[in-house]
Amino acid sequence: MTDKTDTEKMYEAQHEWFNKSFRRGMGPAQIEVKPECKWTYDESTDAYESDCGELWRFDNLGNVADNRVRFCHGCGRSVVAVYPRPEDA
Ligand SMILES: [Zn+2]
Repeated sequence: MTDKTDTEKMYEAQHEWFNKSFRRGMGPAQIEVKPECKWTYDESTDAYESDCGELWRFDNLGNVADNRVRFCHGCGRSVVAVYPRPEDA
C-alpha cells in the first residue's frame, strides 16, 4: 500500500487546519464545528471563499461540481458550494 486513502488525507488536512487555527490564537472552543465547509462563490474574483478561511480559484473556469471537488483542501470537510445572488439584480 503506497497511496494514502482519502480518509487519511482528510485527517491530515484537518490536523493542518487545527494547527493553523491554534497559531492564529483560536482555541478549540472558538472553532465552530460543522460537518461541511461552505464555499461561497465571489463573482467579482471568480473565486470561492471557504468557511475555513481559504480562497480557491479554478484555473480551468469550471465550478466546484465541474472539478469534482468533494472535500475542502483547507479543512478536509465536505464542500458545499454557495452561489449568492446579487442583491441588486
Ligand atoms: Zn474548508
